[in-house]
Amino acid sequence: MPKCSWCNKVIVPKENFVRFPCPNCGGVIIVRCKKCREFGRPYKCPKCGFTGP
Ligand SMILES: [Zn+2]
Ligand SMILES: [Zn+2]
Repeated sequence: MPKCSWCNKVIVPKENFVRFPCPNCGGVIIVRCKKCREFGRPYKCPKCGFTGP
């Protein structure tokens, strides 16, 4: 199960979430849950430390 990169919440498959590779290093898949998208919370790449909106 994927986990949200910000709040560590486990994502349920039916939930509206986004998943994309880190724009900086591309080596990590960033997952953001619906809530974190709504609040516009930033994400942080665990590999390179890149943060973004
Ligand atoms: Zn979240
Ligand atoms: Zn990265």
